[in-house]
Amino acid sequence: MTSSAERKLGEKIAAELFRDPDYIDDPVIDEYVLGIWTRLMAGARARGELSPELDERFAWQVLVGKDRTINAFALPGGWLGLHLGLLSVTATRDELASVLAHELSHVTQRHISRMMTQQSRQAPLLMAALILSAIAASKNADMGQALIVGSQALAAQQGLNFSRDMEREADRIGLGVATQAGYEPQGFVGMFEKLQQASRLNDNGSFPYLRTHPMNIERIADMRSRLPEKARAPVPEPDLVHAIMVGRSRVMSNPGVDALRGLVAESESSTFASSGRARQAGGLYAAALAHSKLRDPQAATRVAARLATVVAGDAAALRLARLLTAEIAFQAGDPARAAQQLDGAAPGRPELILASQAQVMSGRAAEAAQKLQTWVAVHPKDAQAWQVLATAHTALGQTLRAIRAEAESRVAHLDYKAAMDRFRSAQEIARRGGADHIEASIIDSRARQVESLLREQALER
Ligand SMILES: [Zn+2]
Repeated sequence: MTSSAERKLGEKIAAELFRDPDYIDDPVIDEYVLGIWTRLMAGARARGELSPELDERFAWQVLVGKDRTINAFALPGGWLGLHLGLLSVTATRDELASVLAHELSHVTQRHISRMMTQQSRQAPLLMAALILSAIAASKNADMGQALIVGSQALAAQQGLNFSRDMEREADRIGLGVATQAGYEPQGFVGMFEKLQQASRLNDNGSFPYLRTHPMNIERIADMRSRLPEKARAPVPEPDLVHAIMVGRSRVMSNPGVDALRGLVAESESSTFASSGRARQAGGLYAAALAHSKLRDPQAATRVAARLATVVAGDAAALRLARLLTAEIAFQAGDPARAAQQLDGAAPGRPELILASQAQVMSGRAAEAAQKLQTWVAVHPKDAQAWQVLATAHTALGQTLRAIRAEAESRVAHLDYKAAMDRFRSAQEIARRGGADHIEASIIDSRARQVESLLREQALER
């Protein structure tokens, strides 16, 4: 399978995953995952594991799903799936990095294309459907095992299962890449032990990752033998930022009212105040966000203030506490205050998205539009930024620009058909007059480009 055929197959799958209700673009979690992912990519390049051709041709994008199941999977063409459930069981950023490095290595080693060449000569569309059905089957804790019995699902499951040799290779190369990127090799052992414990409990339902990554003594022994002596030290105290990400993942995976109350209760238990600083940071963050989801902004704000005290002195964690305070105000229906709290904040993507949403809703749409336009010029694949920009233009009465921004957000999620519908209606409005020339000609040329992408897509069927 050529790299460009693999990339196209990956795009078909990714286009569906973007439309999956479980897909989540949470700017805070995305930024964290992307930070680790970017370092791992640089590590793979430095070690010569990533060929310039693949580097250039593949997507190298991680799609986060809000599923509570523990799973991560490499897809054709450099796309990667990561469930919040997996993030929330990691104790350290090194453990998360170990999983991502392992999956990254499946892609750089061309395991997917090797497997497909061996196992199937299926049409790309059928192959995409099979892989998607395997992902769907793995998400359902009760049905997972039963579904695999069905013949089509069995083929699909095989489509995602790598050979034992490939698994060993992904472990070995992943370890090298993660270490090169500056992560502790101990992360691999910690993650393996967690998976082994789960497989002893036969907890396959919530650990679909175990079905594609069977854990056994040999794999752990093999990994231990590769570790330098010092890496066998006990697992260090997790850092505050990672603990906060775990707290956020637990809430963002929509665990239901009882679980949200459980997170609040955890932070109020008698032993909580004597637990480590990281555990307190993660617990308070989760509790504050849970209060906010349970529509108790006063309690949320109170807990967020406690969080700020606990993380004092740690700039990265304090920044997340500040963002949380603004998010609570926004969720409480006070966008003006949320926008104010972010005035002068760090110019990161989480701040940009939240501040812009708050500004659009509090009469400051022009400011939001200006910042977002600068952003999308550099990050044209940021669907959410385009989406917020569309609302800013709408608030400013700039209909044509709003429709174009919406079209671009569809393009970013590979939904060319929906994008074309919007470009056509923008062209229609422009024809009826009133549109400025420059905007109308941008729309015409973008419509032509997307039209040809759409034709290409249709030809591959
Ligand atoms: Zn694997």
